[in-house]
Amino acid sequence: MSSNPNETFYDYIFAGFGASASLLLLEMDRRNLLNNSKVLIIDPDPKKKNDKTFCFWAEEEEAIVADLHPLISHSWSEAVTGNQVISELNPYQYHHIQSIELYRRAQDILTKNGCSHLNSAVDQIRKDDKGSFICAAGKILRAGRIFDSRPPDYEKPSEKEVHIHQSFIGWVVETENPVIEEAIIHLMDFEVKQDGGTQFVYFLPFSKDTALVEITRFGSDIIHEEAARKHLESYLQKNFGNFTIKSVEKGCIPMSNAKILGEELPGISLLGSRNYAVKPSTGYAFKNMYRQAGAIANCLETSDEKGLDALNNSHVKSNRGRFAFYDALLLMILKYHPEYGKPIFKKLFSNTRFHHILQFLDEKSNLWEELIMFSRLPLKPFMQALFRRTVAESWLRPLIITLITLILITLGFQSKVQTVSGYALLISGMFLVGIPHGAVDHLLESGMWDQKKRIGFITQYLLQAAAMAAIWFVAPNPALLFFLVFSAWHFGQADGNLWDLPSVASTLWGASILFYILGTHQYETNLILSSLSSLNLPFECPVTALLPWLFYAFLKRNIHFGLTILWLSLSSMLPLMLAFGLYFIGQHSFTSWTQICRHLNMRDEKVWLHALPFHLGGWLLMAAFLLLWPVHDSDVTMNRWAVFFIFIACISLPHTISMKVVYTKKS
Ligand SMILES: Cc1cc2nc3c(=O)[nH]c(=O)nc-3n(C[C@H](O)[C@H](O)[C@H](O)COP(=O)(O)OP(=O)(O)OC[C@H]3O[C@@H](n4cnc5c(N)ncnc54)[C@H](O)[C@@H]3O)c2cc1C
Repeated sequence: MSSNPNETFYDYIFAGFGASASLLLLEMDRRNLLNNSKVLIIDPDPKKKNDKTFCFWAEEEEAIVADLHPLISHSWSEAVTGNQVISELNPYQYHHIQSIELYRRAQDILTKNGCSHLNSAVDQIRKDDKGSFICAAGKILRAGRIFDSRPPDYEKPSEKEVHIHQSFIGWVVETENPVIEEAIIHLMDFEVKQDGGTQFVYFLPFSKDTALVEITRFGSDIIHEEAARKHLESYLQKNFGNFTIKSVEKGCIPMSNAKILGEELPGISLLGSRNYAVKPSTGYAFKNMYRQAGAIANCLETSDEKGLDALNNSHVKSNRGRFAFYDALLLMILKYHPEYGKPIFKKLFSNTRFHHILQFLDEKSNLWEELIMFSRLPLKPFMQALFRRTVAESWLRPLIITLITLILITLGFQSKVQTVSGYALLISGMFLVGIPHGAVDHLLESGMWDQKKRIGFITQYLLQAAAMAAIWFVAPNPALLFFLVFSAWHFGQADGNLWDLPSVASTLWGASILFYILGTHQYETNLILSSLSSLNLPFECPVTALLPWLFYAFLKRNIHFGLTILWLSLSSMLPLMLAFGLYFIGQHSFTSWTQICRHLNMRDEKVWLHALPFHLGGWLLMAAFLLLWPVHDSDVTMNRWAVFFIFIACISLPHTISMKVVYTKKS
C-alpha cells in the first residue's frame, strides 16, 4: 500500500505491548476485529516474565469477570482493612491476574492472526502530510490506526497539581506452616512504621502457606529496599513465623494529576497509563484500561474515527469533575502531610462499609454517600489541602488584584490615603517578589550556585547592566526605545508562558500592555519621558483598547487572562505608577517567580533565601543610582522617577537575557 520502499503499512500498530495493549487485543479478538488485518507489535521487552500482579474488584455480573475469567487466578470475598476488622466485599469480589497470563493470552492471539512483532523501542511518533508514522529500528512504519501505550512522561506539576509515587516491594512467600487464612485479603494494614510517608502492608493469600505480601509507600520519594526488607520480614515473622521467598515484585506507579507530555497526532489512540487510566489517588488502572479497550473496540466496529479520537483523554478532561477534585485533595495531603495518611485511611475503614469505599473508588457513589463518608473523616487535613489548592488556583491572584484596584480607585485619585496605601503595597511587593524574582538569575542555568563560574557570572551581569547605563547616558532616545522593546518582549514571554500563548501572540500581548498602561496615562508618561529623553507619546490610548484581548481570553476559556484584562482596564483610573506597579508586581513578578520556582524545582522560601544576597544588592544599587545619577532639571520628583526607570532598565537587561534560558529550556 505504501509507495516508499522504506515504509511499511499496517492496519494496526501497537507501540508498547503491556497491559493495556494486551487487553485491547483480547477485546479485538473477541469481536473478530483482527481477522485479515495486518498487525505489528513494537516493544523492546519480549514479555516473557511475570512482571506485575493485576488486581481489581468487580461485581459478579460485570462483563470484565466473564471476559477475563480464564485469566483470573484467585478471587476473594472478604478483606481485612486498616482497622483489623473483617469486612464482606459483597457485592464485589477482589480478583487477581498474573501479568504473564495476560501477555501469553495476547501472544496466542497474535500468533493465531499472524501478527508481526518488532523487538525494538519506538524512537518517535511523528506526523507528515500522509499522517502519523512511527520511527523504530531505522524503519518508518505507518498504520490505519496506531495504539500508543508507551509509558508516559509527565510535565512538571503546577502549583495546584501533585506528582508523587506509589512504590512497592512485594514477596511471594511460602510459610513453614500452613497458617494463612486463605479466604481473606489484607488491603491496607498500617501497623508498619511510616518513615515520613504513608506506608502500609498489602497481603494476598494464595493458599494456606503461600501469599503475596507487599509493602507500599505513598510519597514524594520511593521506598528504600533495605527498609522494605525489614518491614516485610518483621510483618511476616510476627504474623506467620518462618518463611521462604519464592519471587519478588517491585514497582512504582505515578500518583499524579499533572499533564502527560506529548502532542495530539492524527490516527493515534492512546492507551493505558498514557491515556490517564491510572486513578491518581489509588494507582489502580486495570479496570479503566479494560473499559477503554471496550470503548475503542466499539468505535473500531463501526469505523468511527472521530469516536476513536474522542477517547483520547486530555489533561483537562481527566481533571474535570468531583472525583478528580477528591483525588487532588488526597494527593495534596499525601504530598504535603503524609503523616495524615494513616489516620485518614484508618478512620475511613472503621467508619464506612467496605463495599461503599470500593464503590466510591470506582467513581460510582453518589454525592450524598460521599458527603456522609467525608463527614466521618478528619476535617483539618482536607481543609488545609483545600486552602492550598485554592491559593494555587490561577483565578485567585487576578481576582485579588481586581479587588485591590477597586479599593485603590475608591480611595480617590491621587488622594493622600490612596498614595500612602498604594505605595506601601508596592514597596512590600517589591521586597517580597519584585526584586527577588530578578535576583536568582545566578541559579537559572544549572539550578545551583556554581562557585567556579561565580566571578564570571557577576562580572558579565554587571557589564550588561553597565552597558545599558552607558547607552542611556550617551543616547537616551535609542536606550529608551530599546528598553521598551525588550520589556514588552520579556513581559509577553512570562505571560505567554503562563497562558500557553503562541510566541507571536505573547510578544504582541507584551507590547499591548506596555502601550496600554503608558498610553492610558499619557500626561504622566510624557512628564517622565521628558526627563528621560526627548521622546514623547503623541497620542492617548483608549480605555477599551484591551477588548480584543478579552475576546481572545474568552476563546481560550482562560479566566486568569480575562480577569487580568479586567483589572488592567480598571487600572487606567489609577495614577501611572500605581497602575504600572500593580502589573509589574502583581502579574509579571509573581508569574515569573512561580515559573522560576518550578524551573528550579525548589520551594518559594528556599528560592527567596537564595535570592537574598542579590536582592539586597539590588536595593543598594538602586540607592546608588538615585544618589549618583546626574539630575539637572527643576522637577526633582519627576527626575527621581526617571532615574528609577533607568535603574530598572539596567538591571532588567541581564535579567531578561537570563530568563530566556528558562523559557527556551521549557519549550
Ligand atoms: C508492579 C505493578 C503492579 C500493578 N498492579 C496493579 C493492580 O493490581 N491493579 C491495577 O489496577 N493497576 C495496577 N498497576 C497499574 C497499571 O495497571 C499498570 O502499570 C499497567 O501495566 C499499565 O498498563 P500500560 O499498558 O499503560 O503500561 P505497561 O503495561 O507498562 O506497558 C507499556 C509497554 O510499553 C513498552 N515500552 C516502553 N518504552 C517503549 C518504547 N519506546 N517503544 C515501544 N514500547 C515501549 C514497555 O516495555 C511495556 O511493555 C500496577 C503497576 C505496576 C508497575
